[in-house]
Amino acid sequence: MRLQGRRAVVTGGASGIGRATALRLVDEGAEVWIGDIDRDAGEEIAETSNGRIHFRHTDVTDEAAIAALLAAADAAGGLDIVFNNAGAGGARERIDEIAAADWDRTQSLLLRSVALGIRHAAPLMAKRGGGAIVNTSSVSALGSGYAPIAYSTAKAGVLHLTKLAAAELARHRIRVNAVVPGFITTNIFTRDLETSEEKRQMANQAIAGIAAKAQPVQRAGRPEDIAAAVAYLASDDAAFVTGTHILVDGGMTIGTRASW
Ligand code: NAD
Repeated sequence: MRLQGRRAVVTGGASGIGRATALRLVDEGAEVWIGDIDRDAGEEIAETSNGRIHFRHTDVTDEAAIAALLAAADAAGGLDIVFNNAGAGGARERIDEIAAADWDRTQSLLLRSVALGIRHAAPLMAKRGGGAIVNTSSVSALGSGYAPIAYSTAKAGVLHLTKLAAAELARHRIRVNAVVPGFITTNIFTRDLETSEEKRQMANQAIAGIAAKAQPVQRAGRPEDIAAAVAYLASDDAAFVTGTHILVDGGMTIGTRASW
């Protein structure tokens, strides 16, 4: 119960990593506000949470919506934790083909959203003496695994933003860190497919098989693997940890296949 009495905001909390993290934070004693564009899934989680999870329809490309989500948690007694996590694959084109508007949309979803999440959380946390912010990056930020260039660039930006925001906000006792997931089995890879739920699960399983081969621990990551790292970074156990990231990638970035 490391987070007893804390209030947390989780973006992208209706699915995958965000959902598992919202549930983990609740398990550790927090009350959680999920912001997501998936109203059905978000409302379902809230309804089955015994009042511990609240859903607010939020598009993280909309600055006013982010500010309102954070304000809702703050109004309930003060904002302690923010997990800036919402995301999707973004534009897939190579750099010599991508349209400027697609580049902008991807940066807005994956990087600007995190900057604005920090921007609007910081004053709320500062006024109550501190807080913890965790941002979701990706191994693609470190050059590992394949992800499109617009996505990988945004996720690299998240790591740099995390460091500089940590430096700027330390004076308010606000810590800022990131998690760097490897291949985690979620709907992110199949969300755009127009297909049945059964076929989506089959595709997810096939991707998990590829992931198992790419990661020395020889299994795909689970959303709960990331949630555990976020819970640590959000807790006082990480009171002396800021401006850094935790790799949760099953060893994917070790960089050698010699031993597996
Ligand atoms: P997911 O698709 O299961 O969950 C993403 C959630 O974000 C969904 O609920 C979706 O509705 C929401 N979302 C998308 N666009 C949004 C918007 N504009 N505003 C608000 N919510 C929005 O995927 P996931 O794998 O859990 O992804 C979570 C984060 O983890 C993303 O930032 C992703 O880039 C990152 N990540 C995932 C992996 C992986 O292997 N799954 C690896 C590295 C990083």
